[in-house]
Amino acid sequence: MPLQRLLDVQKVDLRIMDLEAQASSIPRRIHEWDSSLNEQMEELAELKKQAEIYKKEQRALERQLDQKQQELAKFNAQLPLIRTNREYKAILLEVDIVEKDISHLEEKILAKMDEVEKVEENARLKEAELRAAQKKISQEKDKLKQRQRELEDSLKGTRSERKLFTADLDSSLLNQYDRIRNRKGGLALAKIQDESCGACHMALPPQVVNEAIGGKIKTCPSCSRLLYWDEHE
Ligand SMILES: [Zn+2]
Repeated sequence: MPLQRLLDVQKVDLRIMDLEAQASSIPRRIHEWDSSLNEQMEELAELKKQAEIYKKEQRALERQLDQKQQELAKFNAQLPLIRTNREYKAILLEVDIVEKDISHLEEKILAKMDEVEKVEENARLKEAELRAAQKKISQEKDKLKQRQRELEDSLKGTRSERKLFTADLDSSLLNQYDRIRNRKGGLALAKIQDESCGACHMALPPQVVNEAIGGKIKTCPSCSRLLYWDEHE
């Protein structure tokens, strides 16, 4: 059969396509992993930033508390020096207000400390998660790089196999095959099945079928693929 050699070439070409698809998916997967790591790093940075904001707010509250405590101490120091009952009552009123402020600030500081603790705990968890992911991805990357080297070796072998198969092929037939293959995304040869094209399944004119069976190079009128007849089936 005149197309037997082209059938071998097509088998090799399909293998090359498969190997190339596998090889090209590797950088894509590595890129996906890297972006997922970047995302996690950004989340961690965000948590750390939030913790810093809460701590700063806590320090501001502590400064306010310190100020109030100084005010209270000042009032308490004044008390023994006061001579009139009216003044005494007035100062006690001030003391009461400052004490309420202090108790309120202490509550706010406790709540803020709670927030700091929570966000810091989340940051610790996220950091551990990130480290585990980094370790796993680095191992997976090593495996994929190994796989990529294997694929490149296979591709090299398969491409030289193609050279062998095409070396003594009629060059215009090979060109025609390559043109169809590029246009059809891989499959350039179609088997005649029940007088139809095995690729696009359109019925073939009987003359085309007869000539193809007779050994002529014929193409499918609808999809333009080269038709071959397998007498063993
Ligand atoms: Zn067809």
